Amino acid sequence: MGGRIEQFGSQVSLQIDNVLYVASIISGTRSFKYRLKYFVEETYMAKTKAPADKMEPAEEIKQDGKVVSTKRTAGSEFFWTQSRCTGCNRCASICPVDAIKLDRDKTPTKRVGTAPCTRACPAGLDIPRYVRFVAEGNAPAATAVMREKIPFPSVCGYVCFHPCELECQRQKFDEPIAIRALKRYAAENDDGSWKNNLKIAPSTGKKVAIIGSGPAGLTSAYFLTLLGHEATIFESMEYAGGKMFYSIPEHQLPKDILNKEIKAITDLGVTIHTSCQVQSVQTLLKQGYDSVLLSTGVLGLDEGLLLPCDETVESDLMQGSDFLKNIKSSTKESLGDKVVIIGGGSEAYNSAFAAKSLGVSEVHLVCSRHAGSKEASPEEVDRAIDAGVTVHPSLDFAKLVRLDGKIEGVELFRIRSYGYDKENKLHYEIINDTRRFIAADTVITTVTPNEKPGADYLSVVQPGVFAAGDGISGARSVIEAMAAGRSVAGLIDKYLGGEGNLDETLAPPEKNIKPLNEPKGQNRSQVELSLVKQAGGDKVEIEKTLSPEAAKKEAQRCLRCDIVHQVHDYSLDTSSCTYCGRCVDACYWDAITSGYGYEAAAKKRKAEITALEEKNGVYNYAIRILPVAIGLMIIAAAVAKLF
Ligand code: SF4
Ligand code: SF4
Repeated sequence: MGGRIEQFGSQVSLQIDNVLYVASIISGTRSFKYRLKYFVEETYMAKTKAPADKMEPAEEIKQDGKVVSTKRTAGSEFFWTQSRCTGCNRCASICPVDAIKLDRDKTPTKRVGTAPCTRACPAGLDIPRYVRFVAEGNAPAATAVMREKIPFPSVCGYVCFHPCELECQRQKFDEPIAIRALKRYAAENDDGSWKNNLKIAPSTGKKVAIIGSGPAGLTSAYFLTLLGHEATIFESMEYAGGKMFYSIPEHQLPKDILNKEIKAITDLGVTIHTSCQVQSVQTLLKQGYDSVLLSTGVLGLDEGLLLPCDETVESDLMQGSDFLKNIKSSTKESLGDKVVIIGGGSEAYNSAFAAKSLGVSEVHLVCSRHAGSKEASPEEVDRAIDAGVTVHPSLDFAKLVRLDGKIEGVELFRIRSYGYDKENKLHYEIINDTRRFIAADTVITTVTPNEKPGADYLSVVQPGVFAAGDGISGARSVIEAMAAGRSVAGLIDKYLGGEGNLDETLAPPEKNIKPLNEPKGQNRSQVELSLVKQAGGDKVEIEKTLSPEAAKKEAQRCLRCDIVHQVHDYSLDTSSCTYCGRCVDACYWDAITSGYGYEAAAKKRKAEITALEEKNGVYNYAIRILPVAIGLMIIAAAVAKLF
């Protein structure tokens, strides 16, 4: 809030300042001294003005592997990023010396995939487009937009960890748009009209076997079917859904919501064989499948557990997915008084919360990252902490400590630093001499064998055999697994002779799209909570779906970052720039930012202006004393005449 008040306040004062300046020049009310000062300053500036300093041509300027700009001024005083610029012209309008020029389209258009929320979404959902449909009261069209990328809009509306909200531009003014809540609202008010525009390609005669019916496998089966291939899923468990069914508690994701979306996939022609363990990929290929996808997820891994720091299989560790799957048969007595959970993702926080709900008095969650790393949603983290779970960040598993064969606890390394390099590979530095012990009766791990966070989500195992999802990336979020399932469907299609093109339009076209250059509306709509009784007797808070009025109001807060006046050229003339910084402050989208040459250039220009003012000071002094001097001269002349 503070930021917003400050920002609006400074903009208002800047505008008042500009208006007063222009008004004073026009009306002539500005004092002679100031008029002279501006006259001299402008004359001086005009004389000393270097030839216009055009910005360097568009190129990608990268820092730590990320594009930070596409253009910069010669001395790197300013960076301008084309993909962020909406062509709103605020910077050019506010510049007092007219240094900024934009060559932009007059008519606004949609720029696909550039809104910050869409860029943050692992599956690349066109968020502003579906948010606008919600704002218009058209929930089915909003759901159709989501279905262009994933077949699980409802599931994501319930459990997605919403990285989009972290990047939402609206938070610069107050709070981010409640994107996940809007998704849930739209999906729950869908009428199935997305099917009207669904196109299923004619049969290619190709068959794909998919091992595992988790989010990656089901998403892949859905898109392969649309491309005309015959997709058959083999699931070793009794029910389809993988971690969506077995690892997410009912109060977080009701099974009927999940099953409804799985049914929409089987209705298209996907076959799912449950309770069916596949023994050999080669057998499937021999049976006539043209391609095989391994999307077993962490539930399907039966190689035993191998943690990053331990070369031995720790068979006494309980797998988090097994714990959640068998939660109904777990008791406080079977777990003991103290439980340690290893891992920092959704599964870890859900396991910790479930253990607490069963009445375990001490539950510790140990993770190498900070609390609430990106694989767990803020709600999952908060719920676990509210339930009494103690989170220990910056620790990594070293070994189990046993006494007479019985688990006594875990020994942990302390981690000094943790991060990803440019290739998205994980690096962390362990402080070897600071081991820590936490007592435990049960140790549950959610870390998958040889987990390498940041590893590829999909890979080609051998020609025709592909792998995707948690089985190769380690436990990740549901939306990341869906994104992997969609991408691998494109790869499989190419292998089978297709073009791998998954683009489709299920929603109706939008009419009269206009940019929204100023925030409108009130603060974020709050999602209501209700108390639900758990199996263990405890009550938990669950989110309710937004009402139609609240959803509409919330959606109207969106800034429509994807609707832009296309900018063809942008220039900033540093020779006339006074480095007042108004353009940078005015840009809501951080498209024009100060670069590393800004400070030095600003200092230099300030020194020039100070020197100019000092020079003006001599003129001003001369002007001030002129009447006195003339008066004295007249008096002196009169006195001389008298005598
Ligand atoms: S304001 Fe709207 S378009 Fe912009 S980032 Fe937020 S949700 Fe996306
Ligand atoms: S740089 Fe920023 S303020 Fe200027 S036109 Fe682009 S988006 Fe608008």
